[in-house]
Parts: sequence; structure tokens; C-alpha cells
Amino acid sequence: SRKFFVGGNWKMNGRKKGLGELISTLNAAKVPADTEVVCAPPTAYIDFARQKLDPKIAVAAQNCYKVTNGAFTGEISGGLPAEPCHVGSPGLIGQKVAHALSEGLGVIACIGEKLDEREAGITEKVVFEQTKVIADNVKDWNKVVLAYEPVWAIGTGKTATPQQAQEVHEKLRGWLKSNVSDAVAQSTRIIYGGSVTGATCKELASQPDVDGFLVGGASLKPEFVDIINAKQ
Ligand code: 13P
Repeated sequence: SRKFFVGGNWKMNGRKKGLGELISTLNAAKVPADTEVVCAPPTAYIDFARQKLDPKIAVAAQNCYKVTNGAFTGEISGGLPAEPCHVGSPGLIGQKVAHALSEGLGVIACIGEKLDEREAGITEKVVFEQTKVIADNVKDWNKVVLAYEPVWAIGTGKTATPQQAQEVHEKLRGWLKSNVSDAVAQSTRIIYGGSVTGATCKELASQPDVDGFLVGGASLKPEFVDIINAKQ
């Protein structure tokens, strides 16, 4: 069975003091043994977070560039962060995934349709195309978590319904089965992101193909602990 995966993406939020308080809350929280928890601080605080966070919580970078070193002002290399890597932006995503994996990092690769694409009935086509770009760059699927993040649900307070999430996750698993292998389809975590809260997490987590969450806003609040325990 797939280990439940909860990622907190802190995005560009927090200063040392506030993040220190959040870290204390997380360190004191119960993390179920069958749940993997990863937090992605702002780049400037990756080292701070790794030093302060209990080892039961992994630390990820929010992004990584496509090569290891070079004159790329402001970019972060997969050679720098220590643990899983969150790769968000679609433009370079194939190259970024390939680079992060080549550096030995894990990857949380994000896909998702925009509102007009959902309304046009092309959600499946969009997420399949995005998944293909990722899949073309993956050999070891053990290192990859696929995050379905419908763009219309990110930071909007509009959580996908459990049915909407389940429908897309099931199709994505089917895509993996047809295009990669049955074993990869069965073992790869497909997590949901988009306005997940303490109030919405349990019903989403009860869907058979929802293997966890990628949480933005609520990962900065004590309710993140409820989301970590959504499966309990
Ligand atoms: P919110 O939970 O704030 O909608 O953000 C989701 C997200 O983008 C996580 O990467």
C-alpha cells in the first residue's frame, strides 16, 4: 500500500521568528508512522528549518533549476537542497525533474488544469499531457510523487470536491498503468493540492486514489497537524 504523503509548501511566507513557532508546533505534533511529512520553506530558510525541525519531518526545496552549477542569478540547484524537491513551474518542468533526480533528490511534480480548461471539458487531456512531460524524464518512480493541483483551487479557497479529486486521480493512475507500468501505477503516490484545510482533508483522504496532500496556506497554521493526521 502507498504511504500517505503530506507536504507543506510554505511558499514565500514567514520570517525566522514566526517559522520558529510553526516548527515548534510541528515538532510537538504526533506524526503517524505510516505518514510521510515534508515541509518546503522559503529557500533562505531551508538550512534553518532543517536544523530546527524534528527529523520525523523532511525538508524540501520549493524549486530547483535544471543544472548543477553556473551563472544563474537567483536560481537554486538540485545540488544544494538536502532532501525532496518540489518542482512547480511547467515551462522547464521536464528538465528540472530530470536534474533533480540526477542529483539523487526526490521530486514532487505538480500538474493541474486551469478553470477554463476544466470548463471546456479538457481536464483529462491537459493533465495527461503534463504527466507525459514528467514521465519522459523519470526512470525511478520511487523518487516521484505526483501532485494534482487544479490551478483554480490553489489559494482560492475553492477546494476540489472529493469526487472531483478522486476522478482525476483515478484517471492519472490509469494513465500510469497504460503508459508506464501496472506496478508504477499501484505504487506511485498521487496527492491533491488546492485549498486543503483541516476541515476538508478527511473526506478527501478517504478517496481511494488520494494518497496525501500538498498544502499551501494551511501548512502555515496549527491545522496542518490535523491534515498530517487526516488518515487517522
Ligand atoms: P493552497 O493550499 O494555499 O491552495 O496552495 C496549494 C499549493 O499550491 C501547494 O503547493
